[in-house]
Parts: sequence; structure tokens; C-alpha cells
Amino acid sequence: MFEQSPFYQQALAQLDSIGEYADIDPNIIERLRYPKRSVIVSVPVRMDTGETTVFTGYRVQHSLTAGPGKGGLRYSPHVDFGEVAALAMLMTWKCSLVNLPFGGAKGGLNCDPSTLSMGEKERATRRFTQEILPFIGPQVDVMAPDMGTGEQEMAWIYDTYSMHTGHSCPQIVTGKSAALYGTLGRREATGRGVVYCIEEAARVSGFTLRGTKVIVQGFGNVGSVAALELHRRGCAIVGVADASGSFLCPGGVDPAKLLEYAANNGHRIEGFEGLEQATKEEFFSAECDIAVPAAMERQIDEKIAGLLKCRILAEGANGPTSMEADRILDDKGIFVIPDIICNAGGVIVSYFEWVQDIQMFFWTAEEVDSRLQQLIRRAFVGVQHFAARNGYSMRRAALILGVRETAREKAARGLFP
Ligand code: NAD
Repeated sequence: MFEQSPFYQQALAQLDSIGEYADIDPNIIERLRYPKRSVIVSVPVRMDTGETTVFTGYRVQHSLTAGPGKGGLRYSPHVDFGEVAALAMLMTWKCSLVNLPFGGAKGGLNCDPSTLSMGEKERATRRFTQEILPFIGPQVDVMAPDMGTGEQEMAWIYDTYSMHTGHSCPQIVTGKSAALYGTLGRREATGRGVVYCIEEAARVSGFTLRGTKVIVQGFGNVGSVAALELHRRGCAIVGVADASGSFLCPGGVDPAKLLEYAANNGHRIEGFEGLEQATKEEFFSAECDIAVPAAMERQIDEKIAGLLKCRILAEGANGPTSMEADRILDDKGIFVIPDIICNAGGVIVSYFEWVQDIQMFFWTAEEVDSRLQQLIRRAFVGVQHFAARNGYSMRRAALILGVRETAREKAARGLFP
């Protein structure tokens, strides 16, 4: 069951950690400890060989109090019930923190997308969508890309759902291409949001980004965009890691060239000229100002936290830092930008896409970016001021504000029946 999962335990421990500070009715906290609704489905797929493989899929809706469930769909061999349930809970706090009319949800398919052909991925995505159809809908639960999924998977979900309803329903899913009623700026939104938060954190810490050194773990959607945006602001990217390994590049790497290389190398960065192979420990020990974990959860434990030399840790990934590591980061005076604010750019622009699809009225790239900046910078400043006023860490402040908002709505609506 999900309760035993270390990641779910980490999410629960975060929730429990604010108990004595947040002044929330314990009966409501008790309700928030469990997902509202969870679906586990078998997804049989005809493989290109003619054989059938059965994958396991999950969709967990942690809360539907504020509106439809909102959260990504992840394809990874590590996906399990606990991971998806933990990520759904984080989505609830995130949506509340930035005041979006959504609850928290998450989905996953336990598969290795790098070994699947396009045809196999399409059949898996369409069958998964079909299996969870009774539990999703534009006013019920709206999926988006996460690790291992992107615009193509969202297009298949959109099409499968629309075939079922008998009419085109683009608002069933966000993260679609602009050509398919997606929004401009969604693909870049999470990485850009990470960088807007880093700019705010640097301002508070009294330094500018130009000339600073950065390490980025994960070079997919979030990590690559964050690296490109930071490089554009004059930062040197002195370390990059992905599933193919951890690499240092003391002279700095050009992320645009690295991205082009990876696109032609099975989305792997290994083998790029100038990258020096390193262990994970050497990577995180690098002299740098900013570290961006943008790969997956539970990457920064006590040992890695002890090694980090950065001034700012910007959590592009969801749940990258353990509770024990958090204490060490606090002691070291590292400015942590917690995941529920740092990577909220993705769900903010997903909200913009959902609104545009409902209205069938589309915004310019400039409008999307300026509204993203407005929401994420305002949320960051709100968290930072609340933290400073009360002597809290950024994590505690963000969690209190996110959980309190959800709890407030639950209390006002009451407990049914
Ligand atoms: P992605 O699949 O595009 O990229 C993931 C990257 O991480 C890849 O470069 C992969 O090689 C690397 N990676 C995987 N395992 C690794 C490991 N053990 N060590 C080092 N690198 C590893 O995924 P993404 O969409 O960029 O998501 C990354 C993280 O950001 C996830 O935690 C996700 O939940 C979070 N996130 C994503 C979005 C979004 O809009 N895509 C929004 C909010 C949060």
C-alpha cells in the first residue's frame, strides 16, 4: 500500500512538521493525510513483437476541494502507488499556495519509456486513458506532462477522451502543443518559473546572477530550460547530470549545444565534448552558487546535503530533499526554494492553458510569460515575507501557507454528510 512508501512517508512527515505552527484543526489534518480517491489499472499493450505486456497505471486525486484534480502523468520504471500518492499530495499544497482553483492529483505508468516504440507508447497511453475515463474530466481531473511524458502523450489523451465524448475536448489535458490548443510557453513554464524564483532568492540574498556558477541535476524539460535561462542571464553551468551519469565542466557548458547533442543521442548527455564524468557525490560537492535538482525525488539525503556548497538550492524536481537533509541545509544557511513554489510555473501555465481552452480565446507568449511572472514572483515574496516574519525556513513557510489554504476551504465547506 502507499502508506509504506518512503516518499509518501516523507510527504506525511512534511505535513506533520507544520502541525504545531500552522494552527489547523487536527480533524482536517487527519483528512489531508489520505488521498481522496485512488485508481489502479492494468494496461495491456500489444507490443511490436506481437506479445502482450501488462503495465500498471495509477491516478491518485489527493484533494478535489478547490476544483478539478491537477497534476502530471509520469512514465518511469520507478513509478508505484506510494510515489504517485506523495506527488498528488504535494500538488494540493502547490495549487493552494499559488491560489489556483485546482486540487492535487498525479498519475503514473510503471514502464520504461526509453525502451518503448512510438506505437507502443501510443497504445499504452490510449489504453491507460480509457481505463481511467470514469475518473477524469475537464471539471474532474486534468492531466499534464511529467517525467517521461510530453506534448505527444497529451495529444493522445486529448484524442482518446474526445473520441469517447464525441466532440473535441482540449481542456481535458494541459501541456499540449500550441497547434492542438495548447498554450504558448507551457513547455518552458516550469524551468522559467524555477529561474524567476532563483532571481528572487538571489535578490533577497544580495547577489546578482551574472558570473555565478550553477549545477543542474536532470536535463529533461525542467533542467534543460532552467539551464538555458540561467546561461542567458550570465551564469556558468559547471555541472550537469542525467540518467546517463553526473558530469562536471569547470569551464562551463553551453546548454543550447548540449540540448542539441542530447536530442540526437537518445536524450542522454554522456559523450558530449568537455564533460568530465563524476560520481554523484563529486557532482554535488562542486563549488557553485546555485544547485538545481531537476530530476526526481529523494536525491538529496543527509550525505549529499553535507557536501553541497551552493548558496541557493532551487528544487525544480518534486520532493528531492529528505527531512534530515533539510535540517542540515538549514544549519548551513543554504537558501532552499522548496518544490511547491519553485516548480509551480508548470501548473500555473497549465491553469492558463485550461482557461484558454474553456474560453477558446488564446493569449500571446508575452501575456503568458508576464502572468506567470506575476503569479510566481508574488507567491515567492509572500512565502519569503511569511518565513522572515516568523523565523521559519522557506519550506515550513510554504507548507503552512499551502496546507492552511486547503484546510480553510475544507473547514468552510464542512464534512459531508
Ligand atoms: P523529464 O523526463 O523531461 O527529465 C527528467 C531528467 O532527469 C532526464 O534528463 C533524466 O535523464 C534525468 N534523470 C532521471 N533519473 C535520474 C537520476 N537517477 N539521476 C540523474 N538524472 C536523472 O522530466 P521533467 O518533466 O523535466 O521532470 C523532472 C522533475 O521535475 C520531476 O521531479 C517532475 O515531477 C518535476 N516537475 C516537472 C514539471 C513539468 O512541467 N515537466 C512540473 C513540475 C515539476
